[in-house]
Amino acid sequence: MLKKYINKSLKELEEKGLKRELRCVEGAQSRQIFLDGKTVLNFCSNNYLGLADDKRLTAAAIDSLERDGVGSGASRLVCGNMASHNVLEEKLAAFKRKQRCLVFSTGYMANIGIISSLFDRHDCIFEDKLNHASLIDGARLSQAKIKRYAHNDMDMLRRLLSGSRGAKKKVIITDSVFSMDGDLAPLDKIVALAKEFDCMVMIDEAHAFGVLGKSGRGAAEHFGVEDDIDIVMGTLSKAAGCFGAYCCGTSALISFLQNKARSFIYTTGMPASVAAAATQAVELIEASHDRRERLWENTRYMLSQLKLQGFNVGESQTPIIPLILGDAALTLEFSRRLLREGIFISAIRPPTVPEHTARLRLSLMATHTKEDCDFVLDKLSKIGEELCHL
Ligand SMILES: *Cc1c(COP(=O)(O)O)cnc(C)c1O
Repeated sequence: MLKKYINKSLKELEEKGLKRELRCVEGAQSRQIFLDGKTVLNFCSNNYLGLADDKRLTAAAIDSLERDGVGSGASRLVCGNMASHNVLEEKLAAFKRKQRCLVFSTGYMANIGIISSLFDRHDCIFEDKLNHASLIDGARLSQAKIKRYAHNDMDMLRRLLSGSRGAKKKVIITDSVFSMDGDLAPLDKIVALAKEFDCMVMIDEAHAFGVLGKSGRGAAEHFGVEDDIDIVMGTLSKAAGCFGAYCCGTSALISFLQNKARSFIYTTGMPASVAAAATQAVELIEASHDRRERLWENTRYMLSQLKLQGFNVGESQTPIIPLILGDAALTLEFSRRLLREGIFISAIRPPTVPEHTARLRLSLMATHTKEDCDFVLDKLSKIGEELCHL
């Protein structure tokens, strides 16, 4: 029975051109990677600041490994809370200008733990249609009523808010930078609506932390609304180049999550060496604006050139640039041709993005050179002409 079910499901995926396979990268995550035996330019990593293979992070991790060993042995609530965890949380709370911080093992776990512990079936959760899967899964797990509004559609959000006066608690939850589109949630407008309807706001800064805001604190800093966000989480796996996630807020919120968030309680603490490397990453993000400036130079250049070439980049305003092609098979073919030319840009297909919006998803890094960018632009233009008649 199981075999039949699995084979049928796999066959369906194959027929729709949606079956995925893992590729193998050997060596570090840099602007160039060694992929399936070949060196290629990497334009699909979330390692925006190039910190994932930064020697200072590696040194911090090695130092901790030698001192603290590999595993953390237990849940942090038992005996797995190590000095490195505390140092990282203090560092993050200070950087984010919040009272306290709680680190989770991953962003996915942070979101399901935060949302499902804070909200229940008497509550109503408003979510953007394009929110990350972990925000949707957290809401489902909470059993709250879920109302999803069309992407960034503030009129629809207003209608939904005004139609939900019966709910006990209400919260608007949104990505601050959308992971497949690279556009921003209008946090200023969302905060104003939340105030009007006596509603809370939670944001996911996964792609904004280290990237947006003058100091790299994220999109809330960019919009000047940091004090108006009730719950802010972000990941340490993207611009910070490490692994794990944080939630920052009041002491009471953090204490609540420590006691109630099941994905924090019932899992082993992250390795101390990862926490040590992440602390180093936050210090580098805080101390140096150079990498962020280079990332934004690359972003401005690529966005303007790709638009000139006739690509549909949607509403992107960040280092995440979608080239929306529509057809899944075409997108896959485009990606394969790029790979043959030595460029790795992944094809993103449904269900990760809505039907008929398959795309190449470029993501830029501070460490990409002007030559890297020009090489990619040239190949994109040639293959685009051939395959898409641009
Ligand atoms: C990547 C991502 C996550 C998940 O973070 P992980 O640390 O990779 O589990 C959550 N939310 C958003 C918006 C993301 O892009």
